This record gives sequence, C-alpha cells and structure tokens, in this order.
Amino acid sequence: MKRFPAEQLNTFAEAILTATGSSRREAKIVADHLVQSNLAGHDSHGIGMLPTYVSSIEKGALVPDVELQLILDHGAMMVFDGCRGYGQRLAREAMVVAIERCRENGLVFMGLRNAHHMGRIGSYGEQVIEAGMVSLHFVNVVDHRPLVAPYRGTAARYSTNPICFAMPATTGSAPILLDMATSKVALGKMRVAMNKGEEVAAETLFGGTGQPTTDPSVMFVEPYGAITSLGQHKGYGIAFFCELLAGVLTGGGTIQPENPQMGGIVNHMSTILIDPQRLVDYQWMEQEISALVKYVKGAPAEDSELPVLVAGEPEMMMRSERGCSGIPVDETTCNQLVDTARQVGIERSLVENLLNC
Ligand code: NAD
Repeated sequence: MKRFPAEQLNTFAEAILTATGSSRREAKIVADHLVQSNLAGHDSHGIGMLPTYVSSIEKGALVPDVELQLILDHGAMMVFDGCRGYGQRLAREAMVVAIERCRENGLVFMGLRNAHHMGRIGSYGEQVIEAGMVSLHFVNVVDHRPLVAPYRGTAARYSTNPICFAMPATTGSAPILLDMATSKVALGKMRVAMNKGEEVAAETLFGGTGQPTTDPSVMFVEPYGAITSLGQHKGYGIAFFCELLAGVLTGGGTIQPENPQMGGIVNHMSTILIDPQRLVDYQWMEQEISALVKYVKGAPAEDSELPVLVAGEPEMMMRSERGCSGIPVDETTCNQLVDTARQVGIERSLVENLLNC
C-alpha cells in the first residue's frame, strides 16, 4: 500500500471535482471532507468514493454546484432540499443555519432531504461540537438498491442508515462522537475489503441466494447479497427508525420500491440540535461528563493491549497517526482513481505527479 500526505490527496480530489463541474469552493469543501474521512480512518468514505461520484454525475443522479433550498421554515423547525447536489457541501451549509437557529431557540429540528451522499456523518457532529452544542443525526439512503437484510431476513430491504450523536469536549475530556452505520458494517468497508482481496468476518454477509458468506464481492456483483443487521433485532429497529425519521419526517421518502431510483446515493437526514446551556449549568455538565468518562474508561480491560475507549477516540488516534505517516491507499483504489482522473480529462503527467502512480 502506498501512503500519501493528506495535502496531495486533497489536490488530487479537487482536480477531479473541478473537472466534473464543481466550483473551486465546492471542490475544496468536498475534497476536504473526503480526505478528513481518510485521516479519521474511514477510508470507506474517503477519496475512494470519487469514481462513484463521477458515475453518478454521468447518470444525472448527482448535480455539482446546486444551491441549497430552504423549503420549510418554522423558526426552530426547518427543512432543506439538497436537489441532488454534493451532500458534503449542502449538509455542511444546512448545519451552519441550524446551529445559528439553535443559538436563538435552544432546540432545533433540521431536515435535509435529497442530497447526494453526505459522506461521513460525524463531520456534521464535529460542526456541532465546535459550537458547544449537542446533536443527534438520523440518516437513510435511497436512490440505490437496498443493502442490508432485516433481522430474520436474508435479502436486502434497506441500507446502512447511519446515526451520529455528538457531545462537546470538556476541560477534562475529549468530545464524544458516536458515528456509525446501523448495519454490521458499512458498504464502503466491503469495497475496501474486496479491493484488498480480503475476506470478511462470518455472520456479516448473505450471498445473492441468501446463503451466509465471507466474500465481500457479493455486494458488488449480481445477484447481489446483503449485509446483516447490527445487533440483531436492536440494530434492525434503529435502522428502521432511520427510515422513519430521515425518510418520512424530511418528506424525502423511504427506500420502499414505489419511490423511483436513478442509481445514485441519496441521503435524507433528520438532525436534532440542543443547546445544553439552556438546560443545565455548563460547568456542572463539564465536570459530570469528565467524571463519567474517567469512571467508564477505568474499567479493567479484558486485553491489556486494548484499553476501554469512548466513541470518537479511535478517529482521534487515527488522525494523529495518519497525519504523521500519511494516508494508505490500496493499489486497486489507486488505479481506479487514476482511471477516473484520465476519464475526466486530467492530464496524464498531472495525475502521475499527484498520485505517483
Ligand atoms: P465503525 O464500525 O468504525 O464505528 C464507528 C464508531 O464507533 C465511531 O463513533 C467510533 O469512535 C466508535 N468506536 C470504534 N471503536 C470503538 C471502541 N473500541 N470503543 C468505543 N467506541 C468505538 O464505523 P461504520 O459503522 O463502519 O461507519 C463508518 C462511517 O460510514 C461513518 O462515518 C458513517 O457516518 C459513514 N456512513 C455513511 C453513510 C451514508 O450514507 N452517508 C452510510 C453508512 C455509513
């Protein structure tokens, strides 16, 4: 695996994005989101997504440089339409408005529907953390074939529907950021495993005819397989509620098959924002969280090499490691990126220079 400095991947991603219709501003925001996902260790949502985005643009399922539309505004409740634009940019912009409204109202419901892939949902939690607020995000995924089997089922009926909960840092502890797919694994992780030629753990996948398998390629070739639910009936229940909260309350729609599909990746997201200072004394809150984190992390570890962590810590550790040693990109992903760059007309010497491939 080759390793690249974050800035090099940023420049490369920006070049692909501007060559396919994004303004420099949009390209910068999307490229930064992708590379930050790689830095956090979530390669499934990093620059390896670019070939998929280019193919979504070709299908008309992703439209670069569209404006965010505010379609419903009741003060503390608002809904935006992303008009199939880059979710990474539009969700970021919608969050800026929602955070401002939360300063005024203390509590906000913000729906964003019809944005193309919003990427790593944790990045919106990070915006909230920076503002000293608390947030809950529920996301569904439509426009695409289903990927995840319901509990007791062996065929896919919904997608990897991520949730994210964010709580600000205190003087004694780091921010707490739980950001995860509600399936056993994210689809992008299956792409990464397939590209590396790796098998996945047992009880993660069903093949196209409903038989259990460890081969990640079943998610990418017909007849398509399915990822299993996280935590059996419990994860299935949470994923189902992502359909209800994100799909229904934003007005965007669920994955039920009567809704048309263009084969892109469209996310709808319901966000609840809370200004904690309206509820409790901030200093007390900070002390309480620090004490809780210390107590929980003090639990004896089952394996002394693997201490108890709190959500958000693995990404912080990965960021500092990859910030120093570079971001690893496997050969298949690297080749796919080079092919995509050539396909969109980026000069060969520039591609070679950017990725050293
Ligand atoms: P994951 O399985 O790596 O879980 C990540 C979460 O678990 C993080 O909050 C992390 O801090 C926490 N965590 C990991 N190890 C921990 C430990 N030992 N102790 C405590 N907490 C720990 O992630 P995932 O489910 O594969 O999701 C990856 C990314 O994919 C997320 O950023 C998610 O938003 C994104 N995603 C996006 C979409 C979309 O449609 N936009 C769909 C699915 C997933």
